[in-house]
Amino acid sequence: MDLKDTLNLPKTDFQMKANLPTLEPKMLERWERDFLYSKIREARKGQPVFILHDGPPYANGHIHLGTALNKIVKDLIVKSKTMAGFDAPYVPGWDCHGLPIEIKVVGKKKANLDVLKVRQECREYANKFMGIQRDEFRRLGVFGDWENPYLTMSNHYEAEIARLLGEFIRRGGVYKGLKPVHWCITCETALAEAEVEYGDHKSYSVYVRFPIAGGLDSLVPELTGSSAFVLAWTTTPWTLPANLALAFHRDFNYAFVRTGGEVLLIAADLVEQVAKECSLAEYEVVRTLRGEELAGLKVRHPWIDRESKTVFATHVTLDQGTGVVHTAPGHGQEDYMTGLEYGLEIYNPVDNSGRFVPEIEHFGGMQVFEANPRITEFLRERGRLVAQGEIVHSYPHCWRCHNPVIFRATPQWFIGMELNDLRERALDEIRKVTWKPGWGEDRISNMIANRPDWCISRQRLWGVPIPVFYCKSCRNPLMDAKVVDHVADIFELETADAWYRRSVAELLPAGTTCPCGAKEFDKEFDIVDVWFDSGSSHHVVLNGQGGLQWPADVYMEGPDQHRGWFHSSLLIAVGTRGAAPYRSVICHGWTLDAQGRAMSKSLGNVIAPGDVIKDNGAEILRLWVASIDYTEDARISEEILSRLREAYRKLRNTSRYLLGNLFDFDPSRDSVPDSQLLELDRWALARMASVSQKAQEGYSRYDFHIVYHTLYNFCVVDLSSFYLDILKDRLYTAGPNSVARRSAQTALFRIAETLVRLMAPLLPFTAEEIWSSLYREKAPAASVHLSEFSKEIERHQDLELLARWERFEDIRQVVSKALEESRQGKTIGNSLEARTDIRAGRRAASYLAGFEGLRYLFLVSEINVVEDATLAEDEIQVSVSRASGTKCERCWHYTSDVGVSSQFPGVCARCAQTLSERDEVTI
Ligand SMILES: [Zn+2]
Ligand SMILES: [Zn+2]
Ligand SMILES: [Zn+2]
Repeated sequence: MDLKDTLNLPKTDFQMKANLPTLEPKMLERWERDFLYSKIREARKGQPVFILHDGPPYANGHIHLGTALNKIVKDLIVKSKTMAGFDAPYVPGWDCHGLPIEIKVVGKKKANLDVLKVRQECREYANKFMGIQRDEFRRLGVFGDWENPYLTMSNHYEAEIARLLGEFIRRGGVYKGLKPVHWCITCETALAEAEVEYGDHKSYSVYVRFPIAGGLDSLVPELTGSSAFVLAWTTTPWTLPANLALAFHRDFNYAFVRTGGEVLLIAADLVEQVAKECSLAEYEVVRTLRGEELAGLKVRHPWIDRESKTVFATHVTLDQGTGVVHTAPGHGQEDYMTGLEYGLEIYNPVDNSGRFVPEIEHFGGMQVFEANPRITEFLRERGRLVAQGEIVHSYPHCWRCHNPVIFRATPQWFIGMELNDLRERALDEIRKVTWKPGWGEDRISNMIANRPDWCISRQRLWGVPIPVFYCKSCRNPLMDAKVVDHVADIFELETADAWYRRSVAELLPAGTTCPCGAKEFDKEFDIVDVWFDSGSSHHVVLNGQGGLQWPADVYMEGPDQHRGWFHSSLLIAVGTRGAAPYRSVICHGWTLDAQGRAMSKSLGNVIAPGDVIKDNGAEILRLWVASIDYTEDARISEEILSRLREAYRKLRNTSRYLLGNLFDFDPSRDSVPDSQLLELDRWALARMASVSQKAQEGYSRYDFHIVYHTLYNFCVVDLSSFYLDILKDRLYTAGPNSVARRSAQTALFRIAETLVRLMAPLLPFTAEEIWSSLYREKAPAASVHLSEFSKEIERHQDLELLARWERFEDIRQVVSKALEESRQGKTIGNSLEARTDIRAGRRAASYLAGFEGLRYLFLVSEINVVEDATLAEDEIQVSVSRASGTKCERCWHYTSDVGVSSQFPGVCARCAQTLSERDEVTI
């Protein structure tokens, strides 16, 4: 008889090597063939609903590591909610309109374009990349309704955007106004706050004389007849032709400074600084007055024949300049507010391409940035320049072409932040939302509190036209929500292309009449800001169909979305429904390289998700996402990936070991009743129960790194190096049907059942593979992803038992260390060749006396515990020597009873007993 054949060695077809890059695509095909996502929806019908609403990525280019992380975190949320028993549908979406695609299609030319052709090409472009990204997202193992995503360019979506605008109009939340907006003179369009990026820019810095033409004699009689000027400072000389006022601060002191035969008016606190900057050799402060006393001062424009009005504003500071702010209401937000307050014209003499209109003397037709040196020179020639220099400062640039932008007043459509108390109500709603991490609340609150009105019009082609008409007779816009709804119904059938394809008469309801009585109209040609498109998604998608409900439970996006999608979604929801579209908002960090740098082509440090998947499989990428605190910036490198591969290997091997030892175990036939489970097996189940609880808590708080580390430690520490290590002897050498072995298998089976479910959201492919091996033909569900987290394991919760064994694990480590040392010193080879003598303090000795079969727990052949009163209560000292007796050829234990059985020579009494029972079974 070959004794090896009498051992119950593990058997499984679950491979040691995963070969994920090959396995995953096959698994994806199988899931698709089996309609797994639909089956999950079906299985969860009637359960509590949980909605993660997808923020739409922009449909251009391939996915990158950041988008991969984003989708994987979302998938972890959706999968874990599904396993927790929720009905958690996931409908992915794409943002399809907007400038980047339009520019790809038309370049920068704007003249003579066939609008419908451009829109068709934009649509095809977006469709192509939507398809590419969809395949790439699916490859990550992300479950969702990929066949029916939402696209902001679909008929229905475009119609709904129009309807939401109609709703704003119905509620009086929209207005058209002349207002300075960020304007890119290269792209020739207004830019939203979110489309502007700040970067260093070198500007001119000029000190300009504004002649004082009246009021001086009564304010400062001793200066009557002097040549006097207000000194103002600006970094944008090109805005001087639009100067209409000079702003002072009421509460600052201003000094009349005599220098070189003239008098300059400057903030008193800045006299010294200005004198230095302007190299004023000799100067004398003649008189100081409070700002508000200057109200009667009459000042002229530096060269144009008009007044520059003396006004007061609180945004005037003493940080820089002269304490007097050159004010051009058409070219700045604060100047605009001052202009409104003082009834100044919102004057903008600059056209779309950034050139002065012809009426501007000396500079008509000149581009504003080119005009800067010309105007500076012109001021010098006229004796209006006191000093010039350069300044490098943070300045807004276009997100698209990266050129510096200007502020320019144009007629634009706005959602008014003060209309219907939108700002206040949005701030109220923010307080009701849970923000993770918590700083998100402050960030978005500050942005909402300080933002200007939302400029929603863009002078572009690829988007949804603002469905408003202008009366040909009185030129007033026809602001009628019913008309908008009528147009939206047409969009529903024909897409928003209908706006360009149809005549005005074909777009308007029959008989539409302007309040002035006229019946002839023109149509608006501005389109809606794309942030309005994506911000409408909650309304379009969470529409009560397909189990989707409004509001969403979670929005989860990157850190730039507090001013982007979180922000626009909030304003649209509050503006049209009066409430936030989400209950909680989670924000993930940026993805960085190992040194913490952003990934960029120029740095050559880009790690593409496709490459990671090709080399490692999507599971490793998922494991990376699960292993980090994704709310912070996430680093990745080849070294990090290699550590994750090692971690994966350990998880896989532990799973394989569980499966291998269950090859002859049928749970319904072979399970041992709970009351007969061996204590160590009860301990393992109790550990599993508490790990399951901790992991589920991690899932419910979206702390996936806690889940990962909990499961990993359980597999590697509790199972691999402790429980399974001890169990080997019993599993292999005990009778196949013995209670000892069946008890161990019962525990292993329940652990595997629990573990595979807990692993499923993190490692969907591997968990599915384990599932198939674990249940073979008797699976409780066709896929692990149709199952729920185990509730059965909860009954094995046993805190007392865990407490009893906690100490034991520590002691075992001390013993293992001593064994390892004597292995190193060649006293023993295998630990079963060892005899272990433990001298223990009083409490340690009585503790150890409470355990049966200590030699099996320590994997040694002999153990002897002696109480030693000279030691501290809990102290133990271990000495290792060679075991006496003879080695059993079957179980390798050294015993004195090897060879007692004549029927089974060479084996110990324990093995002989097993073998005789085994024979009976066989017969
Ligand atoms: Zn631009
Ligand atoms: Zn009219
Ligand atoms: Zn034996």
